[in-house]
Amino acid sequence: MLLFCNKCGRSPPVFFRPYSGERLCRGCFLRSVEKQVRQTVSKYRMFREQDKIAVALSGGKDSLALLYILHRIEKNFPKARLFALTVDEGIPHYREEAVKNARKACEELNVEHVVVSFRELYGFTLQTLAEKIKDIRGEMTPCSYCGVLRRRALNKVAREMGADKLATAHTLDDEVQTMLLNLVHGDIRRISRVEAVTPGAEKLVQRVKPFSEVPENEVALYAYLKGVDFQSSICPYAPQALRTEVREFVNRLEARHPGSKFKLYRSFEKLKPAVKASFPSQLSQCQLCGEPASQPLCEPCRLLESLRAKFPKL
Ligand code: SF4
Ligand code: ZN
Repeated sequence: MLLFCNKCGRSPPVFFRPYSGERLCRGCFLRSVEKQVRQTVSKYRMFREQDKIAVALSGGKDSLALLYILHRIEKNFPKARLFALTVDEGIPHYREEAVKNARKACEELNVEHVVVSFRELYGFTLQTLAEKIKDIRGEMTPCSYCGVLRRRALNKVAREMGADKLATAHTLDDEVQTMLLNLVHGDIRRISRVEAVTPGAEKLVQRVKPFSEVPENEVALYAYLKGVDFQSSICPYAPQALRTEVREFVNRLEARHPGSKFKLYRSFEKLKPAVKASFPSQLSQCQLCGEPASQPLCEPCRLLESLRAKFPKL
């Protein structure tokens, strides 16, 4: 029996969406992802007409897909401006390929591309840091530093470039995993920080996540069908044991009960106002660097201070 796309009824399907029961052909699938992103953007009022938008472009498939989609959406908003921001952490045999893919995509789309490195910003590469901390026992892994320092780098450079918004490619899966991880860590306060749009504050560029309601496998297929160059290497520091377990658990749940990721996401959405009310957080400025901080020292300064106490020559 020949199957046809549920939407157009003309072309053979390339994708089955278990949570909706749809079988979609290439064109209808691409349009459906773009439509979902447009709906998310408008639901959370992510952009204003004249926004200067920085796209956090790691060079991985998700961020490249985001760049392609925002570039498409931006065409309808001639006063908006888009540029891409890549942070090179200094991870040999990994980040070079991603930066190359990011550069190629920006050239193809004619989007301004800014690359900043940990070395320029902090004076060391992630590889140097990883070498130093490898003998220290404790919960801190290269990823713990990498995430905090990358977020700081993105905010600082986006702000200096005059960005109104910083768009990141976090998918539905990332958001659900992070919220569950916060529960597993017993850190309920952080659930309220996982938001599709974070409130802007002084020196803090507002962050938006246009993929927060798009499953990761759909973002990946979008990137593949668009012919995005996929990164072949995996970050050597990648194994984040707990996140991998949470990812597998959520994927198993979704496979047996389609729609579970969306239901978890919506449940957390409902919980967040109560969590926020219970743990109000106030931002001030870090006493050391002047960047936004919820404690006397910001998180990057706390990490850097403790690192430099152990390794004065870092
Ligand atoms: Fe950084 Fe960890 Fe991601 Fe590697 S896997 S880029 S170390 S956050
Ligand atoms: Zn600081």
